Amino acid sequence: MIDPRPIVLFRKTDRSAHPGKIVCVGRNYAEHAREMNAPLPERPVLFLKPPSAIIQTGGVVRRPPFSNDLHYEAEMVVLIGTRGKDIPESRATDHIEGYGVGLDMTLRDLQSEAKKKGLPWAIAKGFDTSAPISHFASRDEIEHPNELDITLRVNGELRQNSNTRNMIFSIEEIISYVSSVFTLEAGDLIFTGTPEGVGSALPGDTIRAELQDVGILEVSITA
Ligand code: MG
Repeated sequence: MIDPRPIVLFRKTDRSAHPGKIVCVGRNYAEHAREMNAPLPERPVLFLKPPSAIIQTGGVVRRPPFSNDLHYEAEMVVLIGTRGKDIPESRATDHIEGYGVGLDMTLRDLQSEAKKKGLPWAIAKGFDTSAPISHFASRDEIEHPNELDITLRVNGELRQNSNTRNMIFSIEEIISYVSSVFTLEAGDLIFTGTPEGVGSALPGDTIRAELQDVGILEVSITA
């Protein structure tokens, strides 16, 4: 069942009509880095998706014609509520509006090719529909965001099953680091990385990601 609560991207007082930037953290779970044959990062690995990549729960992810290998990656998503630059870890929570669950949909064939050639991941990670998101639970509803079960099912079958405590970099560390590079603004989203178990999403599949106490995201896949 789709969560009936609305997607909330902004404070009611925020006049902005569009979501902000989407900053994504790569390789933030050791077991996922291992399955990708990637070294553990010393600092968070960052990349961006454009706001046009967002779709909401109940929507359809379209595998574009230039890819044959669309992958799912379930991730906790942090919604920023207050602008900040060089935010210390001790103040990071003050800048959070809420928590959601998202899918960092990835064209794995294009990403592998880009990695080999040392090229950017913009297409592999930022194509239309590559950023499905759930509704957001407000910060105050979630007491221990660094200790939440996260799961993903494909057509009902469990494929990813972990907990945000397994993240290499905590939410506070991520916000502090990201804000040393990009000024964070209200409406910005941070995808915090996926645990192990990533795999292909095929046309006709239903993908359901769940983050404990936060919510459920369900999308279908088409080509
Ligand atoms: Mg990811």
